[in-house]
Amino acid sequence: MRANKLVAGTLLLAALAPWPAQAFDLNLDLNKLRDVVTQQLKPMSEKDEIQLGRGIAANLLGAAPLVPDAQLQAYVNRLGKWLAMHTDRPALPWHFGVLDTESVNAFATPGGYVFITRGLLLQMRDEAELAGVLAHEISHVVEKHALETMKKGAFLEFAGDTLSQALRSEGSAEFSKIVSAGTEVFARGLDKQDEFAADRMGVVIAARAGYDAYGLPGTLQTLAAINPKDDAVALMFKTHPDPAERLELLLTAMEGKLEQYGDQPKVADRFASVMKSHMARYQPKKK
Ligand SMILES: [Zn+2]
Repeated sequence: MRANKLVAGTLLLAALAPWPAQAFDLNLDLNKLRDVVTQQLKPMSEKDEIQLGRGIAANLLGAAPLVPDAQLQAYVNRLGKWLAMHTDRPALPWHFGVLDTESVNAFATPGGYVFITRGLLLQMRDEAELAGVLAHEISHVVEKHALETMKKGAFLEFAGDTLSQALRSEGSAEFSKIVSAGTEVFARGLDKQDEFAADRMGVVIAARAGYDAYGLPGTLQTLAAINPKDDAVALMFKTHPDPAERLELLLTAMEGKLEQYGDQPKVADRFASVMKSHMARYQPKKK
């Protein structure tokens, strides 16, 4: 016992010998800091971003599968891809899907995987509203909001190279670990300012693509009218700023700035017919 203590003491002294204890600690912290800074400054390659986003999307799809209606999914994909063409990242492999859940929500993972729930779709009155919500999600991807949030928190424990290597070995334990850390961001939500920025950018993308710019504000208005205690909106309210606050900030930002964009294309009939043919069976029964 005594001898063990002595050995341990000698080893400790030997380790500390060249530096005073404080300098040694500082040195360790600087190494950690260097890793963190290197990782934050180094942009993730687009290939890695897509791998990561696809992994997270697969996790999220495990929680709620797609609505089993190929034509409905094709419709939302066509609309989403048309919107994405009006952004700075038109070439990403964009995917859009309607999730089979009553929960009212929408989200997007890095690399261009965008989801809206059928609970949210059922709240919409026209295609401009759907375009507005998809464009909000597209903005998160274009601006890499989720990715930046992950780099500031969830990914700090992974060194830059580990991250990149693991993302290239899909199915490995490291890959799953990184994807799980990334998926957590979707339970906590993004930065509030990123949400407001995605609202403003979403309106611009929808308008550029030919939609009534007031589609997104229209949906926010609907969401603001839902009782926040309703289970269906619990996750959305937890992960997003209050829709009334979003609406107010967005309308202020939009004031007088949208005259340059044209009129809405003639899409009212198309949206109505999709809702009738593909969503009618999901409409809540009249009580
Ligand atoms: Zn958002």
